[in-house]
Amino acid sequence: MTEEKNSALKSTNKKTILTLFGTRPEIIKLAPVIWAIEKRSDIWRSVTVSSSQHTDLLRPFIRDLKINIDHDLAVMTPGQTPNAVLSRVVDAIEPIFTKEKPDLIIVQGDTTTAIAGALAGFYARIPVAHVEAGLRTGNRHSPFPEEMNRRLISQLADIHFAATDENIKILLSEGIRKETIVLTGNPVVDALHHILKNSQCSEKLSKFLQQVKGKRLLVLTTHRRENFGQVMSSHLKALRKFIERHKDIELVFPVHPNPSVRAAVNVEFANIDRIHCIDPLEYADFLHLLSHAWLIASDSGGVQEEAPSLGKPLLVLRDTTERPEVLACGVGRLVGHSGERLEEMLEEAIKDKSWFEKVLQIQNPFGKGNAGEQIASAIDNYFATH
Ligand code: UDP
Repeated sequence: MTEEKNSALKSTNKKTILTLFGTRPEIIKLAPVIWAIEKRSDIWRSVTVSSSQHTDLLRPFIRDLKINIDHDLAVMTPGQTPNAVLSRVVDAIEPIFTKEKPDLIIVQGDTTTAIAGALAGFYARIPVAHVEAGLRTGNRHSPFPEEMNRRLISQLADIHFAATDENIKILLSEGIRKETIVLTGNPVVDALHHILKNSQCSEKLSKFLQQVKGKRLLVLTTHRRENFGQVMSSHLKALRKFIERHKDIELVFPVHPNPSVRAAVNVEFANIDRIHCIDPLEYADFLHLLSHAWLIASDSGGVQEEAPSLGKPLLVLRDTTERPEVLACGVGRLVGHSGERLEEMLEEAIKDKSWFEKVLQIQNPFGKGNAGEQIASAIDNYFATH
């Protein structure tokens, strides 16, 4: 944005809302919020900032979700640690605050980018809004460092957008004031429906789906830091044995670029038919793939919200979840860290048809797909009363 355009916009009394993101789940969940802010361009000015914490994973999402980036902090370095990302984001965002003078900063979730944005906003005395507030596993070390990031962001934020009643209860129990919490649903539901409605799967994915037609498709994603090493290996071993036993099942695994994940895959999934290790998929393709799944196995946070939105049963490859709603509604089952338990649960899934039927009937605990609009209305209300 040029200096003239910038100062011309400032002179109209528009409120400036700065949205910060840096990873794949953040942009997916903030896109519906940014769309809702842009829709109100008569009263608000939207400034988007990418930390580029995960450059390669982020870029295609920004393109597909049609998000324009006003500032790129470009903090990613090879082998970066959470400490390095935190300090680089805090440092790089300060001149942007000075230039753009935001009236509100929005962060999402629990990444290092999100905690950095919330902390920098707090230090600069700019109100902070937190999308997807109130998720907790109860274990401060798992997921690491995300659980601690969430807790700290709740302390720093001025407005908390909670996806579920359960999230509200948690915030209240930690002393967050009721009047600062708004129930909005989770914007991942908005993004998912928007994308599935407005996209087709790529030629490459269509070919793959054609190739496995008539087979049951097990979709796997795993990349959590706390699963690296022995846990991930034991999960992959269990999946391999299961696929070897059942000739009518094909496993597809979009492999996260993290070297620990790649190393485990090279050892555990070498030379086996019916296990397809592919590059990470663009979001639209990934959703189309999930919508063809028979069963999903994943340690991802976002996938725990996407499974109920698509009516697909899910084995959660974690020992705790900050989304108990996915278990309570019957869509998800918690596997834990044991490969043996995973094998048992996969075998149970084959036998238990009632699970698949029940999942198709559940009401999505993560909302109706209007979270972006709900968040914009709550921001409007905040500006009117502050
Ligand atoms: N995802 C994707 N392509 C893939 C794998 C995952 O688009 O190949 C999406 C997935 O739908 C989910 C998001 O990426 O919404 C999750 O990101 P990630 O698992 O990195 O983070 P988490 O959800 O665990 O915070």
